Amino acid sequence: MIAEVIVDIASSEVDRIFEYECDEGLRPGARVKVPFGNTYTAGFVISTKEKSEYPVEKLKKIAYVYDEPPAVNEECLLLTKKIARRYMAPMASVLRLFIPAEMRTGKVHERLLRYASYERDVDTGRAKKQAECLAFLKTYKKVEARVVEEKFGVSALKGLAEKGGCTVRKEKFVRSPYLNLPKNDRPHILTEEQERAIESISASSKRVHLLHGVTGSGKTEIYLTYIGKMLEEGKNAIFLVPEISLTPQMLSQLRARFGEAVAILHSGLSPGERFDEWWRLRSGEARIAVGARSAVFAPLENLGVIVIDEEHDSSYVSESTPRYKTFDVALARANYNGAKLILGSATPSVETFLQAKEGKFNLITLTKRINQRPMPTITVADMRQEVKHGNPSPFSIVLQEEIESCLREKKQAILFLNRRGYSQTVICQECGYVAECESCDVPLTYHAEENCLKCHYCGARYKMPVACPNCGGVRIRYGGTGTQRVVSELKKKYPEARILRMDNDTTSGKEGHYKILKAFADREADILVGTQMIAKGHDFPAVTLVGILDADMSLHFSDYRSGERTFQLITQVAGRSGRAEEAGKVVLQTYSPTNYILRYAIDYDYLGFFNYEQKLRKATSFPPFTKIVRVMVTGEKEDETVEVLKEIYFPLEKLVKEHPEEVFFFQKMKSPIKRIQNKFRYQVLMRLKSDLLLPHIYEICAVRKRNVLVYVEENPNNLS
Ligand code: ADP
Ligand code: ZN
Repeated sequence: MIAEVIVDIASSEVDRIFEYECDEGLRPGARVKVPFGNTYTAGFVISTKEKSEYPVEKLKKIAYVYDEPPAVNEECLLLTKKIARRYMAPMASVLRLFIPAEMRTGKVHERLLRYASYERDVDTGRAKKQAECLAFLKTYKKVEARVVEEKFGVSALKGLAEKGGCTVRKEKFVRSPYLNLPKNDRPHILTEEQERAIESISASSKRVHLLHGVTGSGKTEIYLTYIGKMLEEGKNAIFLVPEISLTPQMLSQLRARFGEAVAILHSGLSPGERFDEWWRLRSGEARIAVGARSAVFAPLENLGVIVIDEEHDSSYVSESTPRYKTFDVALARANYNGAKLILGSATPSVETFLQAKEGKFNLITLTKRINQRPMPTITVADMRQEVKHGNPSPFSIVLQEEIESCLREKKQAILFLNRRGYSQTVICQECGYVAECESCDVPLTYHAEENCLKCHYCGARYKMPVACPNCGGVRIRYGGTGTQRVVSELKKKYPEARILRMDNDTTSGKEGHYKILKAFADREADILVGTQMIAKGHDFPAVTLVGILDADMSLHFSDYRSGERTFQLITQVAGRSGRAEEAGKVVLQTYSPTNYILRYAIDYDYLGFFNYEQKLRKATSFPPFTKIVRVMVTGEKEDETVEVLKEIYFPLEKLVKEHPEEVFFFQKMKSPIKRIQNKFRYQVLMRLKSDLLLPHIYEICAVRKRNVLVYVEENPNNLS
């Protein structure tokens, strides 16, 4: 037999099929070790056949087959080919998405550990340590022997085992993360709306279902119920959540309901944990994969449902090659398996909702919160007035009053700050004026290194104003207050309050997010200060106040989606308040209190927002009515980078000239941020009418150079 093998080296020269002689019965998808050049390398069998066009004596033999069943199944192989074709990506780099890195390197293996298990009560006589050890094991049933020995001593455990109180044996160790999560499952009796949602999903013949429900309308319960249904039918499920910080809570709910059938996949796990969880899914031991976007590649067969929770979240687009959209992969898998794809959100993306409205997706609307809890009331604090009245602190008077009453009543508060990357907008603190591009009508971004303002859509540069062009005021500000400053101001004002901070600096470590959130949930603090990380998902019953300190930061972010993002953010953050019996309050601080987006958000009027935003996008030719494509060329040496830029620019220009009706905008330029991490960045920016030219663009950009990286982004999250 002949095996067609892709070697696991992501370089252009080897991105083709190599043939090897193999034994009968080798299955496509297997990981193998093959001779390559004068060494060995890992590879994947992508198909097998009887005969080769090469003379057999010229073919080398496969040296070793790593695993059975094959690491990659047939569906995933098909999908690999599809993705590789769609994004013109090397097969090897696509295959890597399906397999945890530690499997490919072969560095992680199954582990055997010694465990002490409780057997029965025995008389330990005067051996005090043995008695303690026995009581300990009686409580915890099974504990790693090393831990017991550290606690009670080697001889105590040995003695206890000899008396028959416990056994000590080696077992396969499963590094299952978050096992000590509290179990809190109280299966709910579904509300009428939830019942109808389940029926609608089951009955509709559409592939994609959009669950649009206000925060707290019980979407999670619907996912869990439908997953349970699928499990009963012998089918499996993938459950995607946006961020690691969200996963523990969701996971504990899933674990509580489905126990060991749940496996978690995300980059925050240790290599060993990832390896074990992955194999539990591949081997069929676990049947529900939970995780961030990469879990869409979970090695499950016979899928009944794929859930994408908070579907609008920007983390669902990959930021490294291949730049796949989670939705596209999920849809392909749902189609292959005949599974349902459920998208859920309180604030669906404009793109998704448009498709649902046009009837391409099954739209299910949940209008009520569980127990008819009212949505929290949102009070707007006009920060222009605060400045005028001489309040220099980051907290408006009304917010200060609310914080004080919250502390007095021993409730909890969340203060939310919006910070995005390096980008900063210029706002006049006296009139709310925001600097915008004259030709594109999007806010400009301040670039400190050049002390100027730039438009990320056309590259235009503007001088940084010293006074406000609108009111002449000199309190022009770029950027916002940091979380650290907010915390120190809080401490000064409320010395007795206990404060927790959650941002990129405080959440390092595998369970960093989880620890902070847990501490807050356990009421170890009164106020939680944080960035977008705290915006979504969490359920803190004692929180009755949410302060949004700088709503403008995302509103005037230089991105055509800034309105959409702001609406989503406010809705989500507001949803953190008043989850339990007590009514919630939200204070929203802004320099532009009359802004449309803010008005819709305050009224929780998604449809109003959508209609407004959709018209605007149509009128200004922005996605989803067009597609923004950016080709990025980056390299350490400027001349090499420009050389490659030229190489792709001329064929792109030719393509665009041949199809003028497809193109709104086409320009090559230095990227707004010219260098990141010592790499020069040049780009070609396009706005296209449709996806018609995309395959050609990918083809042109599929140049692979040693020192220069070229990649294509579609509707990128960030144009810096
Ligand atoms: P969403 O995901 O739509 O924001 P959740 O699923 O978090 O909403 O539900 C909000 C709250 O209502 C949770 O505390 C959940 O436990 C509770 N809940 C959900 N469904 C029911 C139900 N049928 N009966 C009672 N409580 C429910
Ligand atoms: Zn512009």
